[in-house]
Amino acid sequence: MSGTETVVQHVRVAVVGSGFGGLGAAVRLRREGVTDFVVLERAGSVGGTWRDNSYPGCACDVPSHLYSFSFAPNPDWPRTFSGQPEIRAYLERIADRFQLRPHLRFQHEVLGAHWDAATARWELDTSQGRYTADVMVAACGPLSDPSVPDLPGLADFPGAVFHSARWDHDYDLTGKRVAVVGTGASAIQIVPKIQPQVEQLVLLQRTPPWIMPRMDRDITSAERRLYRAVPAAQRALRAALWSVRESQVGAFVKRPGLLKAAQALAKRNIDKHIKDPALRAKLTPDYRFGCKRVLLSNTYYPALAQPNVDVVASGLREVRGSTVVAADGTEHEVDAIVFGTGFHVTDMPIGSRITGAAGRTLGEEWKDGMAALRGTTVSGFPNLLFVIGPNTGLGNSSMVLMIESQLNYLADYLRRLDTSGAAALDVTPEAQQRWNAEVQRRMARTVWNTGGCRSWYLDGNGNNTVLWPGTTAHFRRETRSVDLAEYQLVRIPATTPATV
Ligand SMILES: Cc1cc2nc3c(=O)[nH]c(=O)nc-3n(C[C@H](O)[C@H](O)[C@H](O)COP(=O)(O)OP(=O)(O)OC[C@H]3O[C@@H](n4cnc5c(N)ncnc54)[C@H](O)[C@@H]3O)c2cc1C
Repeated sequence: MSGTETVVQHVRVAVVGSGFGGLGAAVRLRREGVTDFVVLERAGSVGGTWRDNSYPGCACDVPSHLYSFSFAPNPDWPRTFSGQPEIRAYLERIADRFQLRPHLRFQHEVLGAHWDAATARWELDTSQGRYTADVMVAACGPLSDPSVPDLPGLADFPGAVFHSARWDHDYDLTGKRVAVVGTGASAIQIVPKIQPQVEQLVLLQRTPPWIMPRMDRDITSAERRLYRAVPAAQRALRAALWSVRESQVGAFVKRPGLLKAAQALAKRNIDKHIKDPALRAKLTPDYRFGCKRVLLSNTYYPALAQPNVDVVASGLREVRGSTVVAADGTEHEVDAIVFGTGFHVTDMPIGSRITGAAGRTLGEEWKDGMAALRGTTVSGFPNLLFVIGPNTGLGNSSMVLMIESQLNYLADYLRRLDTSGAAALDVTPEAQQRWNAEVQRRMARTVWNTGGCRSWYLDGNGNNTVLWPGTTAHFRRETRSVDLAEYQLVRIPATTPATV
């Protein structure tokens, strides 16, 4: 950066992203009395995940009464697992109800952010000019940049190609031959929705997931009236949903053997719906339940049993003209390819755009693996706080719980920064190293690391830098307040008087 660009605005805090994380941060800042902030968002509306994922069947897989802000319960959730339109509308209402609109800057993609030691400020270059900020909150999303494999021949495919998070609503799949690539959380929601509509569906599966029945139902109008009239009833339901999930954590983290009963249930789920032994064999995982994200569906297996579906138990190797060629050599001619291939998680693109105090990017810093203190702050990157940073993901509960914990940390960080008299706080390398060594020590026994699968939780070195190996209550305690002993105080260097 040249440093000559005109600054559009200086703010106390610049928040990047307006999904659950960025909006939650904005609400919290206002509650803490901080009004001098902007939310920089590359898209044209709020919602993040729930704006971008509009594929058929898109819904949450953690019950809505838990997958929402504790400070903004919604008595009107229509289903136990609400769909994308309702979750998106909920986030739009959050922006209105908490008066966040004046702070939102849409079509402001952060192209680069650079720590300027001379002023102890972040300089953020956006697609609409430069902002400076004392503190930057990166709420760019763990699952916001789609990952599409770089396959030979894909660029020359004559038909439609899109990723689940960039659904092409102008392309009508009716009567088409469609390849769906991937069998993760999005693909298993898409397949049953489009199977009745398409002529032929080819599912390219590298690894089958374990899938449990989904306890989904309409929430009755009587229940909604109850939640509206007696908010304590909704709070009690949320607490019950939370407790069940907290009680499961021990099995995933410490005693994967306890997951055997759940695996037997998931196996029965396959046997119940899939009668063809060859198909059953293809759909039965060879790794332990819980190693990859456990998925929920009542409609996926029945859809795969339909005559217009071909399950290819092999990944996509290349595209030849309009033919998709699997790694096992199977070929299918198709009109469209839908990628349900996930996101850049352990190589988040924002990493290469943030440059810290030593002139190195976060991407360079994290080339051997993502690491932060308490999933939030990174040594050498003063006054930068992540919302959903390294090792804050969950396998079985609501990410909003983790987000709210990090917002407690953010609020305390700003208070400590004010009272410390410093311009910035910078994590000591020792504190960061200690925290991550402990996280990885606890990770070693988890089913994610020992269950015999290769999941998107693991980075190129096989380290799990994505998930939190503990309960959400434990993370809440760990992020309740900032321990200044873990930081060094950064002051603005005294300027040398100019010599005449
Ligand atoms: C299909 C799907 C279903 C899911 N279901 C669940 C569920 O049931 N339960 C659960 O707990 N979690 C679920 N998740 C995980 C989900 O991502 C998180 O729960 C949560 O929505 C993340 O919020 P966020 O604000 O951190 O990120 P996001 O919602 O991804 O928001 C990030 C925002 O940052 C913006 N942004 C990124 N880079 C830049 C940039 N350089 N400049 C400006 N803006 C930028 C993006 O445009 C986006 O709006 C699901 C994810 C997906 C994809």
